Order: sequence, then structure tokens, then C-alpha cells
Amino acid sequence: MKNIDKTKPVLVTGATGFVAGWLVKKLLEEGMTVHAAVRNPDKQEKVAHLNEMAKNSAGKIMYFKSDLLQEDSYKEAMEGCELVFHTASPFTSEFKNPQTELIDPAVKGTENVMETAKQTSSVKRVVVTSSCASIYTDATECTQAPNGMLTEDIWNTTSSLEYQPYYYSKTLAERKAWEITDSQSQFDLVTINPSFVLGPMLNPKFTTSESFTILKQMGDGTMKAGAPKMGVGLVDVRDVADAHFLAGFTPEAKGRYITSGHNTNFLEMALTLQDKFGADYGIPKKPLPKWLLSLIGPMVNKAFSRKFIKNNVNVEWKADNSKIKSDLGMKFMPIKTTMEDSFQVLVEAGIFNK
Ligand code: NDP
Repeated sequence: MKNIDKTKPVLVTGATGFVAGWLVKKLLEEGMTVHAAVRNPDKQEKVAHLNEMAKNSAGKIMYFKSDLLQEDSYKEAMEGCELVFHTASPFTSEFKNPQTELIDPAVKGTENVMETAKQTSSVKRVVVTSSCASIYTDATECTQAPNGMLTEDIWNTTSSLEYQPYYYSKTLAERKAWEITDSQSQFDLVTINPSFVLGPMLNPKFTTSESFTILKQMGDGTMKAGAPKMGVGLVDVRDVADAHFLAGFTPEAKGRYITSGHNTNFLEMALTLQDKFGADYGIPKKPLPKWLLSLIGPMVNKAFSRKFIKNNVNVEWKADNSKIKSDLGMKFMPIKTTMEDSFQVLVEAGIFNK
């Protein structure tokens, strides 16, 4: 059981990210000192929103220049921290070389952060942002799971460098985190395993997360012919931030936590936008037939290979989120709130005006 002293600084790796932004906001609002480890602290467009948050809250933010691929890069940032949130990891379908662009930063980065934690005597707990991607690759795996639902006991064994390498990167990274944790007794590890994350982007013009790309496609006409009825889980980014916070500061928190509010699919998600935005934007209304998706899928998103479409379209996705509800008291926002709030941010940022 780890009690974390809230007067000590807290490290957030990848603080510029979509998910991390809301976590940093929460920590600052609680009056904490955040050590923000980012690739380039001088890039104003990446940190201006964080500075603004710090200005309007009781807490303090300090930047540290860190890169997942550089050994010892997180040493200075971790000094004096009892709690480390490791969120940084590439999440994109736009890559040429999956090994160097996804796997290496995810796995070597996790190794760097965890090895540094081992050498930093103040660290008591590490919370890693893993993913449901380290539990499964295809929705068909839900049906094969006990009671037809993914649980924290399941590990992804089906992704590879060739098939869904992002999923592979998250699986290898989380395995590495547990392996290093098991080699010592100074700190414990809690992982947050979110499903697909949406919700308001705090820095919409400069967000590169795949979450942004898919949401944008729901309004820019890319999915005008229809949305794939592809089974996925959905969780609000504000809930994901709360989950991290609770995982960090609840002494009894333990192990992996599936962090997913709803078992849904892309069509159902898009349909929730019809009431408010349907008249003005090319929001999909009907399912995109599987044959059409097989033709255009790989052009729309590299991850939508024929095999992935076969194993995910018209397949129900189900995960059991009871552990995080009972251990940490998590509650999840309704889908419609998440969808409308995130879309509204893109509208206000002029993302669809181009
Ligand atoms: P973002 O792309 O917004 O955030 C990724 C972060 O990782 C950015 O801060 C980015 O820095 C940083 N990063 C990437 N490569 C490096 C590197 N080589 N060195 C240092 N930092 C690096 O994505 P999300 O916020 O969506 O993702 C955050 C985490 O949540 C990831 O671990 C992701 O796997 C996980 N996750 C996300 C889900 C989602 O649906 N969004 C679902 C489940 C898990 P920079 O700003 O400089 O590019």
C-alpha cells in the first residue's frame, strides 16, 4: 500500500498529449507541482495551453526536456517525485517503419522511465498509461473470452510487427513495465488500460493523437458514405484523467485497470452527433458496408486492413469495467456528452473550415 505525499512533485511524461493534458489540469487544480517531461519545452504551440492552466490554478508546472529514445532522459524530471505518470507513447496510424516509429519509443521509452524509477529512491508508485490494445487486437477475441468479455486477466497475443503494430507496441511496453517492476520492491505499478479515448481536446490545433484523426473524419466528409459498425470501447478523456489520478493516489490501487465507459461501435458513436451537428456537417448516418470498407478502408486509415475489417466490423466489443468501478469508485460519462463535447471543440477551433 503506497501513500503518496501530495506536497512532493509529480512527474507526467508526454505532458503535451491529449490524454496527459487533462491529467496535468487535474493535478494543477489540486495544487500540485507537476514535472512535465516533454520533447520540446520551447515549442510554444505544444505547451501554451499547459502554461495557461498553471496560471489559472493553485499548482505549478516545471518543464524538462525528455525523449523516450534517449537513455537517462527522465532522470532530472523524476528527482524528488514519489509518483510517476508515464503516458508518453506514439499513437498514430501514420508511420512508415513500425519498429522505429512505434515499437522502439514505446518499449525503450517504458524501459527508460522504469529503470530511472528504480534508481530514484523517492519513487513509490508508477502509473503507466497502457491500453485495451495490450489486452486484445480484434473484437472477435471478445467472443472467445470467458463470459464473452475482455478482462484484466487477458493479454494480447495476436498483434505483431506486421499486424496492428500499435497494439503490439502497447503490449510489449506494458509487459516491460511489469517485468521491471517485478525485479524490485521500492515502487509498485498500476496500469490504466483505456479503450478508445474521445472528449474535448485542450489543444485541438496541435493534437496528433489518433483520437483526433478519427473524430475529425466523422465531420469532414471522410465518412459521409457511412461509418463502420466496428466494435470498440469508448471512454471520455476526462474520465481517463480521473482514473489516472485515482490510480496514483488510492493506496489500495493494484494491477491493471480496464478504463472503458461503453461497449459501442463507430456508427453508434457518430449517430450521437446527429441531433446537434447533423444539419451542418457530413456526419455518417448509416453503416458503411463491409465490402466498401474493404475497398476504401486501408486508404482512410492504415490500421483498417482487410483482416482487421473482417475481424472487427459487425462484431460486438465487450469489456468488463467492474474492477475500476469497485476498487477506485470510477463513474463514466454518457457517450453523447463525450461525443458532443469533443466535436464542439473541433468546430470552435475551425478544424472543419479548411
Ligand atoms: P498523443 O499523441 O496526444 O500523446 C502522445 C504523447 O507521447 C505526446 O505527448 C508525445 O509528445 C509523446 N511522445 C511520442 N513520442 C515520443 C518520444 N519519442 N519521446 C517523448 N515523447 C513522445 O496521444 P494520446 O494522448 O491519445 O495518448 C497518450 C497515451 O494514451 C499513449 O500512451 C497511448 O498509447 C495511450 N492510449 C490512448 C488512447 C486513445 O484513444 N487516445 C487509448 C488507449 C491508450 P509530442 O507532443 O512531442 O509529440
